[in-house]
Amino acid sequence: MTKFIFVTGGVLSALGKGLAAASIGRLLESHGYKITLQKFDPYLNVDPGTMSPFQHGEVYVTDDGAETDLDLGHYERFTSTQTTKANNWTAGKIYEIILRKEREGKFLGKTVQVIPHVTDEIQKSFYAVANNNDIVIVEIGGTVGDIESLPFLEAIRQMKLSLGSDVIFVHLTLVPYMQTSGELKTKPTQHSVKELRAIGIQPDIILCRTDRPLNKDIKGKISLFTNVPLNAVITAKDVNNIYEIPLHFAREELDLIILQRLGLKPKTRDLKKWTTMVRHMNNPRDEVNIALVGKYAGLQDSYISLNQALFHGGAAHQIKVNISWIEAEELENGSPEKILQEADGILVPGGFGVRGIEGKIQTVTYARKNHVPFFGICLGMQCASIEFARNIAGLQDANSTEFNKETPHQIFFKWRELKGVFDLGGTMRLGRYSCTLEKGTLAGRIYGKNEIHERHRHRFEFNPEYESRLREAGLVISGKNPDHDLVEIIEIKDHPWFLGCQFHPEFKSKPLEPHPLFTSFIGASYAYRCRKKTS
Ligand code: GLN
Repeated sequence: MTKFIFVTGGVLSALGKGLAAASIGRLLESHGYKITLQKFDPYLNVDPGTMSPFQHGEVYVTDDGAETDLDLGHYERFTSTQTTKANNWTAGKIYEIILRKEREGKFLGKTVQVIPHVTDEIQKSFYAVANNNDIVIVEIGGTVGDIESLPFLEAIRQMKLSLGSDVIFVHLTLVPYMQTSGELKTKPTQHSVKELRAIGIQPDIILCRTDRPLNKDIKGKISLFTNVPLNAVITAKDVNNIYEIPLHFAREELDLIILQRLGLKPKTRDLKKWTTMVRHMNNPRDEVNIALVGKYAGLQDSYISLNQALFHGGAAHQIKVNISWIEAEELENGSPEKILQEADGILVPGGFGVRGIEGKIQTVTYARKNHVPFFGICLGMQCASIEFARNIAGLQDANSTEFNKETPHQIFFKWRELKGVFDLGGTMRLGRYSCTLEKGTLAGRIYGKNEIHERHRHRFEFNPEYESRLREAGLVISGKNPDHDLVEIIEIKDHPWFLGCQFHPEFKSKPLEPHPLFTSFIGASYAYRCRKKTS
């Protein structure tokens, strides 16, 4: 019998529900339980694929090609779960299913209603990932009190009604500290729980997000007003390093309380590797400066997996990675030498649209000529290939049809649309594809194997018609997709570290298994920094 933990949030958004849920997952895995996590988002988009990263943050991509909420990235980084499209649901996706059934006449003349039809469909989707998992942790997006989360809350209430002690509720709230009176305030938590109880949900555990530990009096007050036992009122203190959260929760014995509530036996909690990892992260022996040249510099969350992958790569060397975001457009009017002078390594990440492209291409020229380690991801690989075509292969005006449809040299184009290779319905290449590596290349050495699998999210492809011309000019094509003969990785010779990949390696990096490309890139950037210092 699979057990369910439903995680809700109150008071305000962005309290870290996803990280809290992922940390609970980590703790339960540390007792040997098999778990997975699911995210439910109350908005009406069918998935976040079409949403602006400014608004919604990163679109995380799973192996099976689902475009999902960024919290799934936390789930995969904190636990060993492998998420799929069944791990992320939105109100839009639920309604889409229901409306299709309605049109097919599956409701046999009945009136289709939120209760029971929508709530039944939501409950069905909780089981979509139950399989042979001992525990499913379900995060309900939004904040309790929002109109649009109501059907989800009603569905989890009904789950409790039918499954009893196999279901528990964890509620995350804010306990703010008031500077003026010098005290922690519990009222927002009281109100949020009151709201939950009004719709029939009594939380079993309260996680209190706060900037300082809660003393017994405060916990007692929250316990009294919310009807939650004292030991289940948990301090969720702000942390500098998100990977500390499971360790803080363990100190509060959150894992033991959860297991006891679910009637599961605690086993020996094994967090040895995790603890060592956090210690390494928090005690770096040196640092390195990485410049990210792109768009969306404003919102940290738009590139959350990338930031994490760089952090993991640094931790592998026990080096702190300082990331500086540079708006690509800045380079179009300024001097790269000046703007990029502090960089020990340069990364051009994935992105969409023409804005800033020329600045990114200038960045590549700078990194290539000055032997600064360069990593181009997806759009970054497009820029690196265009730069090579223009400046080394002598193909003036080389471009991608994404940025200039009239270009005489279409180095990148919507290949599958022209050749009709993919008939997947969507317009993007999404999810897991295999890639065969060329022996003796940088990529071959870094991965140390012949075949790898990485995740994609893009429309444009390297144009096969230019492959031999660019190879002749010295471009190294070190990875190709064996099924469709697509170029997946490019490199240049006589450079300490220069690599562009069509896929997004950041989606597969985990703190305990840093991605080899990031580990290698940070290592090379650090070596560059040391050379720079001594020369
Ligand atoms: N805009 C490019 C494409 O669609 C690159 C996408 C990306 O960087 N993920 O092919």
